[in-house]
Amino acid sequence: MSPGSTPGFVYLDYNATAPLRPEAREAVLKALEAPGNPSSVHRFGRAARKLVEEARASVAALVGAEPKRVVFTSGGTEANNLALRLAIEQAGVKSLIVSAIEHDSVLRPARHAGLPIVELPAGADGVVLLAALEEALAHAPKPALVALMLANNETGAIQPVAEVTRLAHEQGALLLCDAVQAAGKIAVDLSRLACDFLTLSAHKLGGPTGVGALVTRDDWVPAPLLRGGGQEQGQRAGTENLPGIAGFGAAAAAALQSLPRMAEVAGLRDRLQAALLVACPEAPVHGGGGPRLPNTLCIGMPGVPAETQVMALDLAGVAVSAGSACSSGKVTPSHVLTGMGLPEPTAREAIRFSLGWATSEADIERAARVWSEFWMKKRTDL
Ligand code: PLP
Repeated sequence: MSPGSTPGFVYLDYNATAPLRPEAREAVLKALEAPGNPSSVHRFGRAARKLVEEARASVAALVGAEPKRVVFTSGGTEANNLALRLAIEQAGVKSLIVSAIEHDSVLRPARHAGLPIVELPAGADGVVLLAALEEALAHAPKPALVALMLANNETGAIQPVAEVTRLAHEQGALLLCDAVQAAGKIAVDLSRLACDFLTLSAHKLGGPTGVGALVTRDDWVPAPLLRGGGQEQGQRAGTENLPGIAGFGAAAAAALQSLPRMAEVAGLRDRLQAALLVACPEAPVHGGGGPRLPNTLCIGMPGVPAETQVMALDLAGVAVSAGSACSSGKVTPSHVLTGMGLPEPTAREAIRFSLGWATSEADIERAARVWSEFWMKKRTDL
C-alpha cells in the first residue's frame, strides 16, 4: 500500500483529488484546534492571522508571486469565476477567447457571460492552435480576455502560456491562466508567464478540498470580489477558512520542495504507458506527442467504453477516471478530447491515469497488470 491510499487499493486519480499530504493534515488539525479569528486583535486572533499569512507566503512562493497578490477562495472553480468577473466588470473586456479544452469552471461562466466568445481548438497533441488564437485576437472586439490553462486535466498537455500572454498583451488583451493542474507538478513562475490572473486549487496538490486561490499580476488592483467584513485585503469578505488555508499553505510548501521528485513520477508514468502499449500496441495515447505533465496518462482501450474500463479497474482495486461524463443516463464524450479533433467514438474509450506524490512502483505494476488482463479478456469478446 502506498501512503495516502486506501489499504488494498491503488489510487491513480490525483488529477481529480490528490491524497492529503501528511504535512497538510498536520496543519489542518493544528488550525482546527486554534480558537482565533484572524481579524481579532488578541493573541489568539494574531496567531490565526500568522497562520493565514504564512500560508499566503507559501502559496505565493509556489508560483513565484508576491504574497499580497494571493487572494484565498473556496477552490479553483471560484477563482476562475472570479477572474472572469473581474475581467468583465473591472477591466471592461468586450469579448472572450477561451481554449476549447478549458475546465468547465472557465468554459461555462465564459459562455454564460453574454459577450462574444471564440473557442479555440487544440491539435492532436492537445496543445491549443496558436494560428487560431492569432486569428481570434485580430478580430475580437477589444479589449479581450484570453483564457488558457497551463496544463490540461485530462491529457496533461502543457500549453504555451508565456507565448500566448505575449500575443494577447500585444493586442491589449488580458490573460487568465488556470494553473490548477500544473502547480506542484511542474515549476510555475508568474513572472515568466506574465499572465494577469492565475488560479490554483489546494486539493490537486495534496491539500484539503474547498480552498484555492486567485493570484493577480503586480499592477492589477482588483475591486472587492465579495463585500462584507473586508477580509483578504478587502477583496473577498468572509471569515477565512483557517484550516483549509493552513492546509493549502503546508501542501504548497511540500509540493514545491518535492518538485524534483516529479522526475521519478514521470518515470513511473512512462513505465505504465510502455507496459500498456506492450499489451495493446494499438491503444491511442492522447496528448502524449508534446510537452506533458509528468503524472498524467490519457489512453484509450480500443472498442471498450471508458466507464466499463473504470468499473473493471475499480473492481480489481485500481482507481482511475474517465474523461466522458454521464448525465441523465446519457454518456457524453470528453469536450477536451473532442476539442482536440478526436472522433466521438475514440473519445468515449479514453481513461486517465494520474499519479502523484505517494505513487509507488508496486502501484504501477498492479495497474498495468489489471488493465492488460482486462484488455486480453475484452479483445477476445470483440
Ligand atoms: N481547473 C482545472 C484544470 C481543474 O482540473 C479543476 C478540478 O478538476 C478545477 C479548475 C476546479 O477546481 P476545484 O475543484 O478546486 O473547484
